[in-house]
Amino acid sequence: MEKKDAAAYLCFGKDQKPAYLKTEGLKRFLAANGYASNPLTKARKARKLEFIDLKRNEDQGNEWTAAACDFCGQPINGVSYQQLADGRIRCNECAASAIEDLEEFKQLFEQCIQLMQDFYQVTFQVPLEIRMTDSDEIASRAGFRTPTGSGKKIRVLGFAQNQDGKRAVLIENGSPRLASIDTIVHEMTHIWQSVSWNEMEFARLYGMGSKKKTKLASLILHEGMAVWSAIQFLYLIGETSYAARQEALIEERKDEYGLGFLLFRKHFPLVKTTDFLYRTPFRLFPPIPPQEIRSIIHAIFS
Ligand SMILES: [Zn+2]
Ligand SMILES: [Zn+2]
Repeated sequence: MEKKDAAAYLCFGKDQKPAYLKTEGLKRFLAANGYASNPLTKARKARKLEFIDLKRNEDQGNEWTAAACDFCGQPINGVSYQQLADGRIRCNECAASAIEDLEEFKQLFEQCIQLMQDFYQVTFQVPLEIRMTDSDEIASRAGFRTPTGSGKKIRVLGFAQNQDGKRAVLIENGSPRLASIDTIVHEMTHIWQSVSWNEMEFARLYGMGSKKKTKLASLILHEGMAVWSAIQFLYLIGETSYAARQEALIEERKDEYGLGFLLFRKHFPLVKTTDFLYRTPFRLFPPIPPQEIRSIIHAIFS
């Protein structure tokens, strides 16, 4: 065998590998005895595969984006995560605080409602049904699907339902504690909007001249306030770094969540301590001057 075909270290400083070293035969022997599929080799190949699979979940063409936790948005480093049965990716940190049973969830829910009433000076006097469900049901009821593992924040983890005066909050099973709090406050803000905002008055103030424009204006107001409310809540309970991360993620978004949040943050600056809130959109109607929504809608449609 020529030197160029053999690993240099097998030549022992000479030009050629010694004839008595039968490397090809050895390789065949090892392969036949399973040495090509030992646990280490499998682990290496598996890690590679995981990354390919995660990449496939990405809906943005060929651009490679690091896989991220479906709950907190943190990048996943390749080993420290779990993949749930429905494909969702959950980092170890989120897994450690995941809320898996309904009783635990109901307790957290009650605490959030209490604090919301205190922080925002509101009362919730609506009968509510609380349900836990999987990500597919949430996605189909919310009307769209965000690919899992894609790190596209804020993925919908819950859904507020309002059917013939019956209100229900659905939340995704397996959600970590902070993501659950975020979702509960977001959805309860929608519930509050549905009982507190006078629909006729709302339509009169925020009518944009066409159905499409009015619908977008309404989404910006509803979602913007819900996002503001959840992030403000997280700051008020002292979860500053989580709140700041959510704030940074939402700022980047150019949809009704991002645009709406910026608008609400401008009018109701976030209080990042545990101080009392004097100015909140829960206490003001209309919460945002109609003229400002009008100029945003105008810019989008022009
Ligand atoms: Zn996470
Ligand atoms: Zn919402």
